[in-house]
Amino acid sequence: MEKGKRKASRDPSGPIFGIACDIRSVRVRRAIRGVLAAVRRHPRDWARLRRRVRAFRLLGSGNASTLGQWIEDPEHVRHLVTQTEGDPRLWARQYSEEYLASGWIELSRRAARFSLPRLVALIAHECGHAVTRAGEFEKREGRGGDSEWASELCADRHAFRWGFERETRANARHRSFAHHAVLPGEMIWLKGVAFTVDRHFYLRRRPAADRPATDAERAGVVDVVEVRPKASP
Ligand SMILES: [Zn+2]
Repeated sequence: MEKGKRKASRDPSGPIFGIACDIRSVRVRRAIRGVLAAVRRHPRDWARLRRRVRAFRLLGSGNASTLGQWIEDPEHVRHLVTQTEGDPRLWARQYSEEYLASGWIELSRRAARFSLPRLVALIAHECGHAVTRAGEFEKREGRGGDSEWASELCADRHAFRWGFERETRANARHRSFAHHAVLPGEMIWLKGVAFTVDRHFYLRRRPAADRPATDAERAGVVDVVEVRPKASP
């Protein structure tokens, strides 16, 4: 249990571990505090999270299907791109500006009604996006060739590292199709091409399990993916 809780952390709209939070829901704030306490045990991740996340805030009501998201400040990304272009010493970071810019973690009002473990899973996942580095994303994108999957794999990997495997696995069945969730030990088919996810969150080809792509997959109208739970030993 958390020791030495300070009075300031009980402020219903005050910062949590120094990160601004204008969400007043006690349950949401409790979940954020729990996740941040875990990230703090990983100093590099914590430093990165502090650098990037300006605030936790409510998601605009126009986005009904999204429960939570990490969103970079487009102005900051543009500023970094301009800086990079103008200074040859910064060219090494070219194209990774979106992994350096600061932004916000936004949570829907609906999320406040979730159980605490589900909220924790959601928040840990979004913090995972915020902490993801360009290099780890590119390595995973290179293997599976799909940027959306690579990005979700990276976010979930961090959530696992911080100790939220149980919550993440329990929450996976609630995640929408668009918000891809595939976890270590599971198998997916991308246009009929089979992959499993290893414990380092890399997609690994499983040619023996390939199957013909469906018409919808071939047409590229929908991204049809199946997730098969890990076979019991
Ligand atoms: Zn995500």
